[in-house]
Amino acid sequence: MYARVIVDISHTQVDRVFEYGIPDGMEIRPGMRVRVPFGHMKDTEGIVIGLEESSEYAPEKIKEILCPLDDFCALTGEQIALAGFIKQKYNTTLAAALRFMLPAQVRGGRVSAKTQNMVRLLPAGEALQAAEAGLLKKDGSVKFPRQMEVLGLLKEKGDMPASELNASAVKSLERKGVVGIVQAEVARMPFEKAVARIKDYDLTEKQQEILNRIRNGGGTRFLLHGVTGSGKTEIYIRVMRDCLAQGKTAILLVPEISLTPQTYTFLKQRFDEGIAVFHSGLSAGERFDEWMKVKRGEARIVLGARSAVFAPLENLGAIIIDEEHETSYKADNYPKYTAHEIAEERCRLNDAILILGSATPQVETYYRAKQGEYEILKMPNRLFGLQMPAVEIVDLCSELKNGNRTAISGRLYDELEDTLAKGKQAMLFLNRRGYSTFVMCRSCGYVVKCDSCDITMTYHKAQDILKCHYCGRTKSPETVCPECGKPHLKYFGTGTQQIEEQVKDLFPQARILRMDLDTMGTKDAHIKLFEDFAAHKADILIGTQMITKGFDFRDVTLSAILAADTMLNIPDYRSAERTFSHITQIAGRAGRKEPGTVILQTYNPAHYAVRYAKYHDYEGFYNEEIALREMAQLPPFSTYVQIQFSGEKEEQVIAAVKDFIGKLKAVLLPHKRGIISIRASEAAIKRIRDMERYHILIHLKNDEELVGQIYQLFNQTKYRNVLTGIDINPANMA
Ligand code: ADP
Ligand code: ZN
Repeated sequence: MYARVIVDISHTQVDRVFEYGIPDGMEIRPGMRVRVPFGHMKDTEGIVIGLEESSEYAPEKIKEILCPLDDFCALTGEQIALAGFIKQKYNTTLAAALRFMLPAQVRGGRVSAKTQNMVRLLPAGEALQAAEAGLLKKDGSVKFPRQMEVLGLLKEKGDMPASELNASAVKSLERKGVVGIVQAEVARMPFEKAVARIKDYDLTEKQQEILNRIRNGGGTRFLLHGVTGSGKTEIYIRVMRDCLAQGKTAILLVPEISLTPQTYTFLKQRFDEGIAVFHSGLSAGERFDEWMKVKRGEARIVLGARSAVFAPLENLGAIIIDEEHETSYKADNYPKYTAHEIAEERCRLNDAILILGSATPQVETYYRAKQGEYEILKMPNRLFGLQMPAVEIVDLCSELKNGNRTAISGRLYDELEDTLAKGKQAMLFLNRRGYSTFVMCRSCGYVVKCDSCDITMTYHKAQDILKCHYCGRTKSPETVCPECGKPHLKYFGTGTQQIEEQVKDLFPQARILRMDLDTMGTKDAHIKLFEDFAAHKADILIGTQMITKGFDFRDVTLSAILAADTMLNIPDYRSAERTFSHITQIAGRAGRKEPGTVILQTYNPAHYAVRYAKYHDYEGFYNEEIALREMAQLPPFSTYVQIQFSGEKEEQVIAAVKDFIGKLKAVLLPHKRGIISIRASEAAIKRIRDMERYHILIHLKNDEELVGQIYQLFNQTKYRNVLTGIDINPANMA
């Protein structure tokens, strides 16, 4: 037998499969990590991706595997197949693809479970009695009380952590041969908290109907389109229960679980089985532990953010992607995979069920569903006849005309007053953090920008500094313009801090919490804030988009979007979709228990995204949006490929862009008909962290082969001192 081995997968450059012989008696299976001789290196690490009966090389040329590195397979057969898919789909190397499936510690060979010294009682029966007797004086009283105490504890409780016992007593007992020290593995639990189990709800008729369709539907891909509060989560739970009952496993993906440990608690309440958690906030050690938990079969449910889609579960029964419209499901590093694409392939390989859930599915997802790729399951109503909150639109232009210069319209003021009087809670949503969005000289128009990034700096009043939101650089604020010398620098725009001040002025008695990246230095600060608000320790929560993420605050009856337009003005074909989705999600925060009100302040009351959101009319929005996209040849009717270039020296970056365009033309020329446009330009933010940024945007008709060719060209082309990247339908178009 011969093993096909990928060598040293921490270094992607070698994208080749090498063949090694398997010494007699050594048991090697695909997926195992092995130590192999390689080149002039005495040995290096590799991973076996397959076995073969014969080799085309002469036997004397083939080296042999030195030894397996673990006694288990680090990769499942399915994961090896998935790596092949990733290599193909994103034109990357197999080694790079395999990295998604192995935690960093496993790759570097630094496999280390966290261990702990445990003290174990060695003798038993008569020998133990003798040992005990040895701790007594002649008169029968205790000579070594601390050793006796340790002995007593061990007799009662079995092995105990050394850290919990008197160290010198343990030492003495060890010398006498009464106790021994053994190593035991301990898990680094990311969220350690005992949770009481609660019983399953009785399903509503609608929930039962949906579940039946998933169970008996014949199909395996579903889009669960249910309004906020329609009870989608309960469906997820039942589908996962089905999986466990059939001896299978399941993955539940949420947008960013490091921000929402509630989701974990919530699952713990419902399942006795082990649950592994994966997200970006885990330490390398924690990530490894969770991975091992899955490998050992101790967890058959995985909860996590995007990367959890690679969890090493075997016999997968379902993958559920909750809030499927969230942009966090797309990777921000290369290769820029989406959780959807990986989940689709894994479900195909396992014949597993895939469920995408959302109140506002991506337009592209909905389109594909309508084309028959997904079965659409609808939950158009909230549970128990609860009404969707009324959304009221306030035209900010007329507020201005009436002389109101605050961010709180007259209508919102009334509602806030009413909410507070009733002892309820309100959430105010703003798209910006900081105090004001930019600082400009009223005399000459000079705008204060970051020295490293081509972006205006934001004033933060609490610390009295100007801050760059891209690189974190700070400056002390000035009043005199460095350009014209006049004392006319003025702070424009409104950030969360300023809103907080305005609200405090208007409602001095209200308890206010503010949540944005600035108030949440740590993960724990974020959780604390949420717990405080959920416990009604504050009346008003002011925040950026963070506060929209799937929370269930029961006392919130009012939510307000202070400026719904900020997103509309972003030059991106998805800006209407995102505006609609954000408004709908925020509206969904209000009135989860009793009727709620949503105030929507906007400068564009007539925009269709705003109008349909007012009536919670997804279908109406979708129909208008998809017609526009078709007319303008935008995705899903076409594809954008963005090639990104960045480097410290602008000339070098521009030269690279020009060179690439030349090569691109040669590749694309025979396909002229498929190309809608090719455009090279500076990035919208031209400089970040002292790197000059440019990109080429290729707009083409849907043609996978052509995209593949562009990918290939991209992979073959490298430039000195210029970093490049490639992205399909990039999250950031400008
Ligand atoms: P969605 O995910 O669609 O926004 P949820 O699943 O969070 O909605 O349901 C909203 C609330 O209703 C949750 O607090 C949930 O526990 C509760 N709930 C869901 N289904 C039922 C049911 N069948 N009976 C009672 N309560 C339910
Ligand atoms: Zn900066």
